[in-house]
Amino acid sequence: MTRIVSWNMHQAVIHDMTRRDRAWAHLATLAPDIALVQEAAPTAGSPANVVWAAGDDIPAGWREARAGVAGYGVAVRAFDGPIHPSYYGRRTSFTWIRRARPGTLALAEASLDGGEPLLLASLYGAIGYAEQSVAWALADIMPMFDDTQCRDHIVVGGDLNIHTHTTDRRSRHRAKALLDLAESAGMVNLLRYAKERGLIVQGERATPEPCSCDGSDCYHVKTHRGPGQRLGEMAANDYLFASRTLAARLVSLTVMNGDDSPEWTHSDHCPLVADFSV
Ligand SMILES: [Zn+2]
Repeated sequence: MTRIVSWNMHQAVIHDMTRRDRAWAHLATLAPDIALVQEAAPTAGSPANVVWAAGDDIPAGWREARAGVAGYGVAVRAFDGPIHPSYYGRRTSFTWIRRARPGTLALAEASLDGGEPLLLASLYGAIGYAEQSVAWALADIMPMFDDTQCRDHIVVGGDLNIHTHTTDRRSRHRAKALLDLAESAGMVNLLRYAKERGLIVQGERATPEPCSCDGSDCYHVKTHRGPGQRLGEMAANDYLFASRTLAARLVSLTVMNGDDSPEWTHSDHCPLVADFSV
C-alpha cells in the first residue's frame, strides 16, 4: 500500500516557526509515504527529504513558502527529465522547457517497491490569475504523461484555486477547460473517480449545504475554509490526479474536512489522503 497526501499548509501566511513545525509534525501523523505540499516552508521540523519547487522569485512575504514533494516512507529526488514522449509517434525531437511560476511546481521521482518509477508533481495555483498559473504548470507536466518510461505511475496534486462549483459562469467555464486539459493529457481526476466508485471518505459535517455547481458533473468536496465563508458552504480548491494505471489501484480517497478535523487548526485547507494498492 502506498499513501500519498496533498495539503496546502498555509505557510505563506503563517510565518511563526513554532506553528509551522506543529503543522509538519501533524502531517507526519497522517503516515504518508509521500506528501505533496503547497504554501509550505522548510523548518527545523520539516522532513529532510523534500524536493522544493524551483524559483528564486518567490512573492514578497511568502518567506520561502512554496510547493514541495516530501518523502517519508519513500525516498524522493528531483525530477528534471529527460522525457521521451511517445506523442507524434516520436517523429519529432523534443526539448522540455518549463515555465511554471516560481514556487508553484515541484517535480520529483521515486521508485515503488519492485523498482517501478513513480513521478510526482505538487502544483499550486498561485492567487492572482490562478488559472494562468495552473495553465503554465499543466503545460509543463503534460509531456510527462506521454513519456515512454514513466507514464504508468504519475500522481499530481495540489491547491489549484480554480473552481467548477462556483456560480460565476466565466470562472466555472475557465476552470472546466483547464481540468479538461489535464484529463486530455491522461490525468484521471481522482475525486470524480473515487466518488463514482464509492471510494471517498469525508469528515463529519453538521450543516453541509447543497453544492453550488450546476449539477452536471458534481464530484465536489469541501477542502477549504475561506474568510466570510459559511461552515457548510462548498469550497473545492484541492485536487488529486493520477495516471490511469495508478488510478485503477486507488483503494480510498479520504478528505479530512470534518467540522472538528484538527487539520483546520494548521491551515485553511484540509488534506486529501489517497491510498493505492501498490
Ligand atoms: Zn458540485
